[in-house]
Order: sequence, then structure tokens, then C-alpha cells
Amino acid sequence: MSIPVKIENLEKSYEKVKALKNINLEIRPNELFGFIGPDGSGKTTLFRILTTLILPDKGTIRLGNYDVVKDFKKIRKITGYMPGRFSLYMDLTVEENLMFYARIFKVDIKENYELIEDVYSHIAPFRNRRAGDLSGGMKQKLALSCALIHKPDLLVLDEPTTGVDAVSRKEFWELLKKMQQRGITILVSTPYMDEAALCDRVALMQTGRLMSVEKPQNIVNSFSGNILTVKVTRMHPLLDELTGFDGTDRVYRFGDTIHLTTRRNPEEMKERIYHHLTEKGYQNIVVTQAEPVIEDCFLALMEPPEK
Ligand code: ADP
Ligand code: MG
Repeated sequence: MSIPVKIENLEKSYEKVKALKNINLEIRPNELFGFIGPDGSGKTTLFRILTTLILPDKGTIRLGNYDVVKDFKKIRKITGYMPGRFSLYMDLTVEENLMFYARIFKVDIKENYELIEDVYSHIAPFRNRRAGDLSGGMKQKLALSCALIHKPDLLVLDEPTTGVDAVSRKEFWELLKKMQQRGITILVSTPYMDEAALCDRVALMQTGRLMSVEKPQNIVNSFSGNILTVKVTRMHPLLDELTGFDGTDRVYRFGDTIHLTTRRNPEEMKERIYHHLTEKGYQNIVVTQAEPVIEDCFLALMEPPEK
């Protein structure tokens, strides 16, 4: 069954740090909802409150009609949590890990197998291997199987693909989409901007605040300004060379190129950059205009230009 999440006026501090500052957010039943933001922005803290592991200082989170503080036992039954690390017992086998989680939740693996089949079938051939000997991608699939074994209505995944190779990341997201089709509401945090584009909506967090909540496509559409992509033979000094160049708002590395945002006329900027780099002795200079992708837009939201 799909379940909505409603967060109201949520606050949480650790001694000196205000980790969450007045968070208000509604997540729809069956949404695949992403959280993105730099380290320390409060994503894990929010997930820990949501999964009843820590208490908020102020405010509430409700899953359907249940309150994460008052109804914590019920919340644990209907929530599957995959923490960033350490959710598996590395010296137990694949099968033993799954059995362990099934016992905690007092469920029968056979009865619930149908839900995890899509995920577990990838690792079933290795059922007797110790979890510690699995590849990163397989560990994630086992952890996801364990988080699903009690048929939760809500899945909470904290950076599930961090440190996992690109092919496994893609597979993992395909599995998440399948879980969503089965009616589960999914909350997932990620440091990878390309994964944000796969969510129905994305929240951008920064230093404990919710900066924006949008559909990925709307974030891209609301980007104002122009993006220029710059490539040369000797890329190494290029970032410093172009930082602060007259007319640019932001200059940053983007894959193996440099991206530069400007609100000036892009054609004129292209010419000026080309001449500047030629004068400085750069070779094979290619300056092109590019459409913004989600990475560009988040950087713009996080660091609004001063001017
Ligand atoms: P994220 O998951 O986005 O990296 P966290 O929720 O882990 O963010 O951290 C938010 C802020 O709270 C950071 O400044 C972090 O240093 C601080 N913090 C997190 N957990 C603790 C803790 N147990 N004790 C003290 N400070 C913490
Ligand atoms: Mg975290």
C-alpha cells in the first residue's frame, strides 16, 4: 500500500550544530522522491528521524496517519531503511543476512519472496557467499532485499549507490523503479546529480534548510542564463584561468570540460573567451553553448551569483 509523508516544522540540533531548520515537506503516496545536497546538509538526520532512530527537537513527521514519535512501533513495521553503511553483517552469508532481517520482522521469507524477487534473484546464485566478499553493487542489492523483506509501504534509502560503479548504479535505479511500480513510496538521498533526474521530485538541501522542491525537468527549465562549455588541449590550468573572467557568474569543472555560466550575450562571450585563451597560448580551443542539465541548475541554486 502506498503511503504519504508529511513533515511539519521539523527541527533538530546536535550540541552546537543546527542540523535541520524548520523543514516542511509533503511527499505523495507512491512518489520516488530524491534528496540532494552537499555533505552535512541534514539528509541523514532527516532520514533517522523518519525511521524513528532519533527524536526531533520540534515539529512532526507523519506517515499516513502514524506519527514517527508516538507510533514508532507501527512506523518500524511499515518502513524499510537502508542506511548508508553497515546494514549488513559481513561475516554472515547472503542468505543468513536475509534470514536475520526476516526474523527481526517476524516474517516468512517464502511468503514475502515475491516482493524481493526482482532484487534478490541477482544475488541468489551467491547465497552461500559471505556478504563481506560481495562486490559493492551486490552488497547494495542484498541490503535492499533486507530492507524489503517485511513488505514495507515506505522505503528510505540513504545514499544507496555511493561508491558503487556506474553499471551497478544504473541497475539499482531500475530496481527502485520496479519497487515504485509495486506501490511503495521511496525516499532516496544521493550525491549523484544524474540520479536526481530519475526521481519524480527532488528536494535540494543545504546547511539544514530545504532550498527547493521541484520536478527535475522544472529545475532545468527555470534555469536562467547561458552555459558555455570550454575545452582546450591543456585543461589543467583552465579553471583558474577563467574564474572571475569578466561577464561570468560561475565557472566549474564539468566532466572533462569547464562550464561557465553567463547572463551576457553568449555569442559575444564565446568570442571574448576564445580571444583571451588564444592570447594566453592555449591550443585547440573549443567554446560552445550548451543546454543546462540538472547539475548546472543545482549549482546555480546552491550558489546564487553575488551580482
Ligand atoms: P548529510 O547526511 O546531508 O551529510 P547529516 O544529517 O549527516 O547530513 O549532518 C548534518 C549536520 O549535523 C552536520 O553538520 C553534521 O556534522 C552534524 N551531525 C550529524 N550527526 C551528528 C551527531 N551524531 N553529533 C553531532 N553532530 C552531528
Ligand atoms: Mg548523510
